[in-house]
Amino acid sequence: MLNVDLHCHSNISDGTLTPSAVAARAKANGVQVWALTDHDEIDGIPAARAAAAELGMGYVSGVEISVTWAGETVHIVGLRIDETNAQLVEGLHATRSGRERRAHEIAAQLAQVGIPDAFQGALKHVGNPDLISRTHFARYIIELGVQPDIAGVFRHYLIEGKPGFVPHRWATLANAVGWILGAGGVAVIAHPGRYAFDDLAFDAFFAEFKQLGGAAIEVLTGSHTVAQYDEYTRLARRYGFLASRGSDFHDPHESRMDLGQLPALPTGLTPVWHDWGF
Ligand code: AMP
Ligand code: MN
Ligand code: MN
Ligand code: MN
Repeated sequence: MLNVDLHCHSNISDGTLTPSAVAARAKANGVQVWALTDHDEIDGIPAARAAAAELGMGYVSGVEISVTWAGETVHIVGLRIDETNAQLVEGLHATRSGRERRAHEIAAQLAQVGIPDAFQGALKHVGNPDLISRTHFARYIIELGVQPDIAGVFRHYLIEGKPGFVPHRWATLANAVGWILGAGGVAVIAHPGRYAFDDLAFDAFFAEFKQLGGAAIEVLTGSHTVAQYDEYTRLARRYGFLASRGSDFHDPHESRMDLGQLPALPTGLTPVWHDWGF
């Protein structure tokens, strides 16, 4: 099997390793084709590409775009993008732009439940001041000893109905898919198993994504259970989507799935990389 990992993060977004350190870890774990997919950011791509070339690893330029669809946040991965495409660069810039203000509001909410100085606290964990994310707040909350780990934080804080949740309007689905296609890329629905949609909403989401030119879904991701591997295998077949595989690695200690460790894609699926020449 070709070991392909098309979803992970560096400290250009909410991962903890530099792009070249993520590349080295991917290589050490046996990854042969790799994409760095930072949230709403392409700044890590040149270093990632150079590191992959040096290590003899196939490289695919990528990004994970935050989208608001039907009032919910969903993530759309773009693969094989031209990261210099002006519309993509502009669109991602706009998508990132509300994060600092949102972070101040998150910090204000946390202060009310006895977690002080969270803006500065989160900033200490940020590698890129343009991209303050909930993950950075989570690391600060762990640092304070309020919660033992990321999963604990995201049960008690930073999610809807809990302190530190600030609703945010991200890109539209049409914009995100449009930027990706306009930059010559392939659009992929990230970790579909994480969205709290019923069957009807999933059907509408998949149909709209497909109609916009979206081509693939992540079947194998660190966010899916083994049962969900089967569930999304069936859905990929039913909707005629190509299938992707990506760990969603963020950090050696935090992440449930390390780079390159997912099982092989089930047979009967067409890999999103089938015609990329690897
Ligand atoms: P943001 O883009 O600022 O809303 O932050 C989203 C990030 O928070 C995701 O990319 C994940 O890395 C992290 N995250 C969200 N929910 C969870 C969760 N339940 N468990 C672990 N990490 C989470
Ligand atoms: Mn993340
Ligand atoms: Mn995601
Ligand atoms: Mn991700």
